[in-house]
Amino acid sequence: MSRIRARFWDPTGARYSIPTYPWQMAPPHLLTLRQLAARGLRPAGQGVQAQILWRSRRYGAPGVRAAYLYDVRFALPKRTPTPAQLAALAKAAAARRTCPDCSTDVGYVLPRHLGTCLDCAREVAA
Ligand SMILES: [Zn+2]
Repeated sequence: MSRIRARFWDPTGARYSIPTYPWQMAPPHLLTLRQLAARGLRPAGQGVQAQILWRSRRYGAPGVRAAYLYDVRFALPKRTPTPAQLAALAKAAAARRTCPDCSTDVGYVLPRHLGTCLDCAREVAA
């Protein structure tokens, strides 16, 4: 094991307070959020169980980077919204686009500081 790998090898969490693995050395039951989502799973309330640490030279984000891991054994299937939930979300989104002054759906979310659509705000200002 190279020195850089040994630095991030801490399966008991003695050094980093949670179990820590170098790149590509985490046990297979620990997955990132994206890996869980790719299997149709969600963390289901469990906290971060472990992390992967690696050194990065990527421009804009140099230094030690972390990926947080969740235990696939505590994960549950992703929930799909019911038609009623989707309808409620669509209604809420429409309310955010509807101007209270001219009561039209203007097609964009109304700016909070105006409270009206841009056309109505311009009329008031003029
Ligand atoms: Zn308006």
